[in-house]
Amino acid sequence: MSNARKVIIIGSGPAGLTAAIYTARASLAPLVIEGEPSSTSDQPGGQLMLTTEVENFPGFPEGIMGPELMGNFRTQAERFGAELVTEKVTKVDFSSKPFKVWIRETEYTAESIIVATGAQSLMLDLPRENELIGHGVSTCATCDGFFFRGQEIAVVGGGDSAIEEASFLTKFASKVYLVVRRDALRASRIMQQRALDNPKIEILWNSRVSEIHGDQSLSGVTITDTVTNETRPLNVTGLFIAIGHKPNTGLFTNILEMEDSGYLLTREGSTYTNVPGIFACGDVQDHTYRQAITAAGSGCMAAIDAERWLESQH
Ligand code: NDP
Repeated sequence: MSNARKVIIIGSGPAGLTAAIYTARASLAPLVIEGEPSSTSDQPGGQLMLTTEVENFPGFPEGIMGPELMGNFRTQAERFGAELVTEKVTKVDFSSKPFKVWIRETEYTAESIIVATGAQSLMLDLPRENELIGHGVSTCATCDGFFFRGQEIAVVGGGDSAIEEASFLTKFASKVYLVVRRDALRASRIMQQRALDNPKIEILWNSRVSEIHGDQSLSGVTITDTVTNETRPLNVTGLFIAIGHKPNTGLFTNILEMEDSGYLLTREGSTYTNVPGIFACGDVQDHTYRQAITAAGSGCMAAIDAERWLESQH
């Protein structure tokens, strides 16, 4: 395997692997550094590895399991010559060309880099939480809401995301408890009103989920009052965690321009970062849409941007 590349892609979710398919078909022989298996979403295949059935990815009218979909992306990228290594990038140097990327002691160089390291949902860090993802615990209402038709569920969080998720979930659930750790919502006024006006949403103020129950699937949670410390059971079959996201951009601090929240900045309508030759796609630069299909779309954009940029350099 050559360590000197035209394109290195960091990350292997829908964005990274779509960039791999496109750059491989453009004969750029990309190297994809896909990450290492872990319980969080910065792992090979990204956040879809943590979901069960994906019903909204176009082209699969019967739905497809998240891991199977990512397996298909991978096979398609490899078919055109993309090489994948199952490791995590430990350091980068984008200050001069060729750009440098390290996996521990091993150095790789590339004329261009596509950053597709994704984002991860912040979690409650409770026992059973990770095991029950896809089995009652979810971080994506758009993805999983449909499975909770007629059921009682809970959403954790008091920000715009939590209210957006809770409102969306009332289309399916018979009742949505919004579990808020303080006596106030962080969300914008208009979103607060939306929650308060919705008869299917009941806000549990000064409350936190302190235990998650269930063997094969979620059977309920324990709620602890954050003022009195009293506990009580809440019988819900779904638990949506909407307490924010964190982009996987620690590697690029002081190297690529990012928002205060850590999301990489890209030039409007493109995947160009502030460093010519470095492109960013998928959730690492998108906190608005965060869908597999939009990530894949921006991965395609990054591949085309990189290909054209490489051509312009020769
Ligand atoms: P926010 O950081 O705005 O809100 C996070 C919420 O989760 C807060 O209520 C916070 O509580 C709560 N929280 C954090 N950690 C925990 C925890 N461990 N246990 C329980 N609760 C916790 O994140 P969002 O994802 O909601 O929003 C991110 C950004 O995206 C915001 O700027 C938001 O405005 C924007 N956005 C806008 C939308 C829209 O306009 N339609 C839709 C979605 C997002 P506390 O308040 O006590 O800190």
